[in-house]
Amino acid sequence: MKALVLNDLHKFSLGEVEKPQIAHPGDAIIRMTLTTICGSDLHLIHGHIPSTPGYVLGHEFVGVVEAVGSDVKDFKPGDRVTGPAAPYCGQCENCQAGHVAHCTRGGILGSGIEAGDLSGTQSEYIRIPYADVNLVPIPDDLTDEQVLFVGDILSTGYTAVINAELRAGDSLVVYGAGPVGLCAVVAAKLFSPGQIILVDLDPFRLEMGRKLGATHIIRADQEDVLNVIGQLTNNKGADAAIEAVGLPSTFQQAVRCVGIGGRVSVVGIFAENVEVPFPEIFLKNLKIEMGLGDLRHMKRLIRMIETGQIDLTPLITHRMKLNDIQRGYEIFENRTEPVIKIAVTP
Ligand code: NAD
Ligand code: ZN
Repeated sequence: MKALVLNDLHKFSLGEVEKPQIAHPGDAIIRMTLTTICGSDLHLIHGHIPSTPGYVLGHEFVGVVEAVGSDVKDFKPGDRVTGPAAPYCGQCENCQAGHVAHCTRGGILGSGIEAGDLSGTQSEYIRIPYADVNLVPIPDDLTDEQVLFVGDILSTGYTAVINAELRAGDSLVVYGAGPVGLCAVVAAKLFSPGQIILVDLDPFRLEMGRKLGATHIIRADQEDVLNVIGQLTNNKGADAAIEAVGLPSTFQQAVRCVGIGGRVSVVGIFAENVEVPFPEIFLKNLKIEMGLGDLRHMKRLIRMIETGQIDLTPLITHRMKLNDIQRGYEIFENRTEPVIKIAVTP
């Protein structure tokens, strides 16, 4: 089958690889109908997330069940499904404690042997382990594009909002209008905050954020961010902030921009250690939460897509075939044209 293979650090190409087969009785083989490119793929390609090259990239998918192992009860060939970027077993101690991102038998699709050796979704077929635990059926009335982001960036954006303990009427600041920050904006709207203040450098992304529900946008390269947030919150500071960039400066600003008793929710992934403004956190009685997105929300999120409460299709700025995916990476990485997400069909 055709697949995008990471051959070496910084080097990837479309090639022929073996089609995955059922390896365990709980597996399912999925024929891909839609996938996409994520910032994490770039981190893997460039070694910011260490991995041993020689595997198929990609971890977001929508597809049709092609075959199931003998233990799979809930799915059959022909079912339309999606699933988490990081499949988990549901049985180990970490899963049972609710930390499915730390499943001892799971892994991350398309992230190499270090992450469970699960082949990626930028291909024609994938193998999903523990299919009954991981696969989520797609209602007939929803398109592939409507559910494409549920298993990764939407779950992460929603987790960010849950961790921010957002309440009706709150003022929320979101740092980062990338795919994750924009998902956080959409998820935040579900909780009726009074203000969603979105901060980024990229005017196209900020305008997209406004369309998706941000009440205020701030250009971090042109405006004094903390000053503007101060004015918008009557100098009380925001009730909550979400960090979806992954830079020390935006984390520190997130701490600074919230008021007494504020909540800071971090989903950005940091490549370096961060100086933490401890006295300020202490004296303002702040609460800080962080970590990987919780992938157990997928069914709830799909229900909200069905009711029309969530629509992330505006994030899809480009559509292309797997054959053209290398051009897609070029656009996605270098932002040679305004881009947020690229939907890729085999
Ligand atoms: P992205 O790189 O597309 O988005 C980051 C945004 O931050 C960009 O739009 C960029 O213009 C903006 N930015 C850069 N510097 C800024 C500054 N000084 N002030 C304000 N904005 C600034 O990435 P993404 O895919 O949206 O992911 C965001 C972060 O979330 C990344 O760190 C990613 O690794 C992480 N992530 C975490 C999880 C998780 O489970 N916690 C899952 C997926 C992604
Ligand atoms: Zn991803």
